[in-house]
Order: sequence, then C-alpha cells, then structure tokens
Amino acid sequence: MYLKSLTLKGFKSFASSTTLQLEPGITCIVGPNGSGKSNVVDALAWVMGEQGAKSLRGGKMEDVIFAGTAGRPPLGRAEVQLTIDNSDGALPIEYAEVTIARTMFRNGGSEYAINGQTCRLLDVQELLSDSGIGREMHVIVGQGQLDQILRATPEERRGFIEEAAGVLKHRKRKEKALRK
Ligand code: ATP
Ligand code: MG
Repeated sequence: MYLKSLTLKGFKSFASSTTLQLEPGITCIVGPNGSGKSNVVDALAWVMGEQGAKSLRGGKMEDVIFAGTAGRPPLGRAEVQLTIDNSDGALPIEYAEVTIARTMFRNGGSEYAINGQTCRLLDVQELLSDSGIGREMHVIVGQGQLDQILRATPEERRGFIEEAAGVLKHRKRKEKALRK
C-alpha cells in the first residue's frame, strides 16, 4: 500500500485544482517559506477525517477553504482526494485502488466518499483504522511537534506510547466504564 496521488481544490492556498503524483518510497516537498508545503500535509490529514481545526493549523474548520487573495476571490468549498494503491490488499476493501474524497462547504459540514460513493466519516475511519494511517495516529509529525514530545511530562509521554501501542483507546473505555 502506498499513497498514489493527492488532489487539492480550494484547499487553503491551493485555489486551482492541483494534483501531486506520488511514487512508492520517500517523497520530499521543497519550497520557500509560506509556499504551501505544510498545507499539503494538512490536506492529507483532512481527507483522512481530521476533525480538529487546531491540528489543521486553523481557528475554525472552514479556515481550510481558500480565503482569497488580492487578485482572487474566496471560494465556497474545499475538496481533497487521496488515491491509495491497494494492490497488496492492505486496506479491507475489494479494490486495487481506493480514492477517499472529502468536500466541505462554507455553510456546513463535510461530505465523504470512497471510490465515488458517498459515505460517512465512520466508513473512512474504519477503512483506515488498521492501516497505520488515518486519524489520531502520530504518523504525521508536525512542525514543532517533536519539541512538544521532548518537553512532555512523564504522564503525557506515557499517553503517546500508549497510543502508539494501541492501548489508549482501551484505557479510555475502561476509565469511562469506571465512572459510571
Ligand atoms: P514554511 O516553510 O514556513 O513551513 P510552508 O511551505 O509550510 O512554509 P504553509 O504553512 O503550507 O507554508 O502555507 C502558508 C500559506 O498558506 C500562507 O501564505 C497562508 O496565507 C496560506 N493559506 C493558509 N490558509 C489559507 C486559506 N484558507 N486561503 C488562502 N491561503 C491560505
Ligand atoms: Mg511548513
């Protein structure tokens, strides 16, 4: 399994439809400060279902929609499509290629689709949950996040390790059950 392509349209600074073709192995994105490198990574997290505006480096969710520039008016929607090569069957779906799409309008929530079929956020999360990518996994290490981990209290650091080991969700469930 590997990420095959990523298309951004109206997402942050990517007003026009922009497609990045990716290859297996390591991809590097280089460019001047403010040219949109981190926005590409935000798009990746967003299309996989990220729900936190802060994780997307914004104040509110609609901050991901192209806000306009001096020469270009703002847009009403943001769209991202991620195509994953699944020829090794790592994702639990009967397709050799899987495209996850997320669209968001200024006046409301998000729409998701898997291979062109409208679905729920839960379906996207379940598709990705055992793949090692997806929501709430520390597979995306943001700028400054390494610092945060190094400066964390022992309790916070234990949280990171528990999450990586996959026990955090069970501990949260246990705590919830004990509170009842
Ligand atoms: P650095 O090297 O400093 O980390 P970068 O290449 O990672 O830079 P980004 O943070 O991806 O840069 O891009 C920042 C740019 O994206 C800013 O110019 C900002 O104005 C623009 N931007 C962010 N959100 C939007 C939006 N909703 N609409 C239009 N432009 C946006
Ligand atoms: Mg950056």
